[in-house]
Amino acid sequence: MKHDCLETEPLISGYLDGELTQSDRQRVDLILEDCEQCSLVFAEMKKLRKGVGSLSFDQLTETEKSNMTKNATSGAGSNLGQFLAITGLILVYGVGAFWLCWELVIDAKFVETGDAKDKVPMFIRLGLPTLIGGVGILFFTVLFQRLKAAKTDKYTDVQI
Ligand SMILES: [Zn+2]
Repeated sequence: MKHDCLETEPLISGYLDGELTQSDRQRVDLILEDCEQCSLVFAEMKKLRKGVGSLSFDQLTETEKSNMTKNATSGAGSNLGQFLAITGLILVYGVGAFWLCWELVIDAKFVETGDAKDKVPMFIRLGLPTLIGGVGILFFTVLFQRLKAAKTDKYTDVQI
């Protein structure tokens, strides 16, 4: 379609803003189809509009604000949550494991009933406590490493 590229620019702008009449839109459509120059302008304008839209000042501060609030609350909340969760885990896991191991090692059921079928095999009496201990140590090692990493992250945030 015959056109002046410079004069078409405002039309392209209006096209992107949805301000054109039906016939003008059709005109721009035809121009874009066969003019490389105008297609480039169109692509640039579109990119620019998208960028401006996502980087608008209000949105940016809103996002930052909500992020800051989220960090602040999740900081205190997750600290308490972590503390409670870890305390609970240590109590349940520690006491539970200790109790289970003790029962196994002294072979409590067998001692109580004197019944041969209640006798726990030696490899379980020794193996299970070892297993529980090993898993426990692994679990808490990983847990504390993660906590340490989370703390380091927090300090980096403050520095920035
Ligand atoms: Zn053109």
